[in-house]
Amino acid sequence: MRVGFLGLGIMGGSMAANLVKAGHSVTVWNRSAGKSVQGAKRAATPREAVANAEAVWICVSDTAAVEHVLFGKDGAFDALAKGVVVADSSTISPNASLKIAERIRQRGGDFLDAPMTGSKIGAAEGTLIFIVGGKAETIEKVRPLFNAMGKTVLHIGDNGKGLGAKLGMNLMIALIYEGFIEALTLARKLGVEEHKLFSLIQSSMVRSGVVDYKMPFVEKRDFSPNFPLYLMHKDIRLMLEAAKESGAQLPALDTVNKIYDEAEAQGLRDLDYAATLKTIEKRAGLND
Ligand code: NAP
Repeated sequence: MRVGFLGLGIMGGSMAANLVKAGHSVTVWNRSAGKSVQGAKRAATPREAVANAEAVWICVSDTAAVEHVLFGKDGAFDALAKGVVVADSSTISPNASLKIAERIRQRGGDFLDAPMTGSKIGAAEGTLIFIVGGKAETIEKVRPLFNAMGKTVLHIGDNGKGLGAKLGMNLMIALIYEGFIEALTLARKLGVEEHKLFSLIQSSMVRSGVVDYKMPFVEKRDFSPNFPLYLMHKDIRLMLEAAKESGAQLPALDTVNKIYDEAEAQGLRDLDYAATLKTIEKRAGLND
C-alpha cells in the first residue's frame, strides 16, 4: 500500500521501518530534520507525505501534535485523498480524537484511533498490540499495515473506544510500576537485598508483564527512554481529565501524578518513566 507516515520518534521510526520491510511504499515526515527510515521517501511537510497515500499513519507525542500535523501549516488534512484511511497511534484525548474522526469522514476518508502497547522493543520487533476504535471494515482495509507492525489487533468498539481502553490500561501500568518501586524502596530500607526481592517477585503471584519488562533496566539503573517519563505524565493527565469529564474518581492516580510532577521538577522528564524510582529513593534518603 502507499502509506504516508507522520512522526519518527521512538515508536514511529521502527513502525515505519517495519512497513518498508513488509514491501509497502512509505513516505515519511518528521518535525525535526535528521530522522529518516531506510527505503522510505522523505517528505518536507505532512501535506507532501500524504499526497496520493491510500493510508496515513500518525505517531506523535500528544493531542496538540496530532492537530498540528493534520490541521497546522502545511498539514496533511487538505491533501488527503478520497477513501483514505487515517490511523492515529498517538495516545491522545478521546474527545479530541472523535472530533478529528468526524472531520476526516466529512472529507471522504475514514479514521481509526489505533493506540498501541509493546513499547520500544515491541515496535522494533513488529510485535505491537493495537487497541483500535473505528469500523471493522476500515480495520480490514489497513490489516496488512497492522500485520507488518504488530502481532495483535484488538477491536474495542467505535471511534474513541481504542483510546478509552488504552488510557485504562496505562493507568494500570503507572500504578503497577509505582507499586514495584515503592516495594523496592521499602525493602531496601529494611535491609533486603534487591536481587532477593526480584526473585520473590518473579516466583510469586505479584509477577507482572510491566515488572518483567522494567526489571532488567531497574537492575542496571538504566533509565534511557523506552517510554519517556514526560509521555507517561501526559497520559496520566489525560486519564485524570477523562475521569473528571466522566465522573470517575482516581485517588491513587492523583497521588502518582504528584510524583511525576516532582520527577519532572527534578529534571527527569526525558528519561524513561522508570526513573520515578529516583524520586521515591530520594524521598527515602537513598542514593542510586
Ligand atoms: P517520542 O520518541 O518522544 O517521539 C515523539 C514524536 O512526536 C517525534 O517524532 C516528535 O518530533 C513528534 N512531535 C512532538 N510534538 C510535535 C508537534 N507539535 N508537531 C509535530 N510532531 C511533533 O515518542 P514515542 O515514544 O515515539 O511516542 C509516540 C506516541 O506513542 C505518544 O503518544 C506515546 O504516548 C505513544 N506510545 C509510546 C510508547 C512507548 O513505549 N514509547 C508506547 C505506547 C504508546 P521531533 O522529532 O521533532 O521531536
